[in-house]
Amino acid sequence: NTFMELNLSRPLLRACDALGYTKPTPIQAACIPLALTGRDICGSAITGSGKTAAFALPALERLLFRPKRVKAIRVLILTPTRELAVQVHSMIQKLAQFTDIRCCLVLGGLSMKEQEAALRSLPDIVVATPGRLIDHLRNSMSVDLEDLAVLILDEADRLLELGFSAEIHELVRLCPKQRQTMLFSATMTEEVDELIKLSLKKPLRLSA
Ligand code: AMP
Repeated sequence: NTFMELNLSRPLLRACDALGYTKPTPIQAACIPLALTGRDICGSAITGSGKTAAFALPALERLLFRPKRVKAIRVLILTPTRELAVQVHSMIQKLAQFTDIRCCLVLGGLSMKEQEAALRSLPDIVVATPGRLIDHLRNSMSVDLEDLAVLILDEADRLLELGFSAEIHELVRLCPKQRQTMLFSATMTEEVDELIKLSLKKPLRLSA
């Protein structure tokens, strides 16, 4: 199978081509068509499976076809570590290189002021570690989740292992009820299952 068969738009197909992706990985072939329907997804997938593009491509596709809004983040991606946030952000930059979609990185260890400025420049997508995003929500008016369309929880097992449970729950509560949620996890623990029950609606389950 090919990316073309997954009903992705030209700028995204061009990016896959530029990255040298000749065909979707199994998790991409399974996830992309289902995610494009707008259903919630939970996937067991490890790093190296191509999971980042599996959630990023359908999220980008949705952004291409939504009217431009002012002042609001439309896709939020939460990751457990700064390293992973940097990787996801870089992957999204590459996949979005032929679009006008803008992605911003919010993580601990960088200057709050610079990130505030980045957030105020109206990014479509925010990739964040939970603690720092909450700092911004509490301390500045630079984050607005009211128009969020897609929430992605990447490496959910590690998010919980690292003690981000309270932060995740707070962030999920701040997102609109009417949204698509995708959760990926290497392992499906009891805690991950609880988080799935709390934050996803009738999720389709995938594994790769
Ligand atoms: P991930 O599992 O998302 O961390 O991706 C692991 C690596 O696989 C990254 O370096 C991606 O650039 C690469 N990758 C993702 N999708 C594909 C694909 N369809 N074909 C070839 N490489 C890919």
